[in-house]
Amino acid sequence: MPAIARFSKKELIELIETTEAAGNDTTELRSLLTKVEQEERLKKPAKQGNDENYIAELRSQSSVEHGTDLECMVCHDKFDQLISGTCEDCFRKWVLSTKKR
Ligand SMILES: [Zn+2]
Repeated sequence: MPAIARFSKKELIELIETTEAAGNDTTELRSLLTKVEQEERLKKPAKQGNDENYIAELRSQSSVEHGTDLECMVCHDKFDQLISGTCEDCFRKWVLSTKKR
């Protein structure tokens, strides 16, 4: 019955506790709990992961320059690769600042 997948993690833990207290086998419930926990992790990726995806996405839409002695227009350091005229670091900062708007 697919309805069981709609258990929240809390309900599932309570169910495991109740089942255990009744002396019954919780192997299946525990594997279900593992699945629920995995799904939760997928639904709520770490903030870092979101940022990385966002950066990667914008990066793929940006022009990347390769060369020697390319100057980042933000920090003015020299790099051999620029993304939209900025170095990797400044590009990341820029992306994250646009995201927080
Ligand atoms: Zn820079």
